[in-house]
Amino acid sequence: MLAALTFAACNNTNEKMSKCENEKTELSFTAEQAAWMSVIACDEAKGDLVSLESAIHSGLKAELTVSQIKEALSQLYAYTGFPRSLNALGVLQRVIGDRQAKGVKAIMGEDASPLGENYDALKEGTRVQTQLVGKAFEYEFAPATDYYLKAHLFGDIFARDNLTYADRELVTVSVLSGLEGVEPQLKAHIAGARNMGVTEEQLQGIVVALAANGLLAEAGRLAGLLQTEWPQGKSNDAYAQYFTGQSYLQPYFGGVANVTFEPRCRNNWHVHHGAVQVLICVSGKGWYQEWGKPAVPLTPGTVIAIPEGVKHWHGAAADSWMQHLAIHTQEQPGATNEWLEPVSDEQYNSVQ
Ligand code: MN
Repeated sequence: MLAALTFAACNNTNEKMSKCENEKTELSFTAEQAAWMSVIACDEAKGDLVSLESAIHSGLKAELTVSQIKEALSQLYAYTGFPRSLNALGVLQRVIGDRQAKGVKAIMGEDASPLGENYDALKEGTRVQTQLVGKAFEYEFAPATDYYLKAHLFGDIFARDNLTYADRELVTVSVLSGLEGVEPQLKAHIAGARNMGVTEEQLQGIVVALAANGLLAEAGRLAGLLQTEWPQGKSNDAYAQYFTGQSYLQPYFGGVANVTFEPRCRNNWHVHHGAVQVLICVSGKGWYQEWGKPAVPLTPGTVIAIPEGVKHWHGAAADSWMQHLAIHTQEQPGATNEWLEPVSDEQYNSVQ
């Protein structure tokens, strides 16, 4: 009976009402909007107001609404405190003013719908929290905090319908990726995001967005906890001549590519001139080695910045596939890759 009523309410488009439950578990952002929202949230966590300003401009250009960004930054006080949240809201306000002064469009969007007269924050929040966690959660040690989590965070805040539950979890995963020492909470919210309808592709999109915007340690922190296989893409034929074994290439945006190596596959010794190549291992096991140095293991979450001009190779372990994101940073004009001799079986076997 309840389900039927909810279904009927969802199909009633004549009056404005809070979004129905199945709508709340879908991301309302395009892939590009999700990417900018991720960067905005992560910058908020770090308090990097310069990068935040640029990300807000980009997000508005991608047609995120002011309402959506404002709502995300407001929600984030529950994760980063009022100081970070208020500073970020201040940046948003300044950006809107700057754009208005220059006559550049920003879509304002609608504020959240008013809550119903009978809205019960504790009851609704408990329901949302149970859906997010996957089971009832009672924090008996600190009843006051249990109440804040239920009635306020998952009640008052999550009930506002200008972001969906999925949107809010994408923002939460992004903000926790920007904080040190909160891996248990990040892990819990990765699960929460999945429970609220965020797909693997969308979670991987956060990692790519952070990596593409210089948030490399943050991208690695999230990649290490996702525990997911990434799309392998197409056979890496263009570079096959510089590889031993089979590799695959999946390009993303912002100059980020995912390289998949079959077991024992590795690239030749090579040097990046005029750029720092950053590797972020996202799945499996592998190795990175600089000439004359011991090999460094690559496991999900490992981030390696390869200095300009250093001879090295990277590849899978003998008994495992490996996937890493690769991105060139600090790129100068005329940057090139210099491909050298293959990593011999003798050299390769010695690092296993
Ligand atoms: Mn390299």
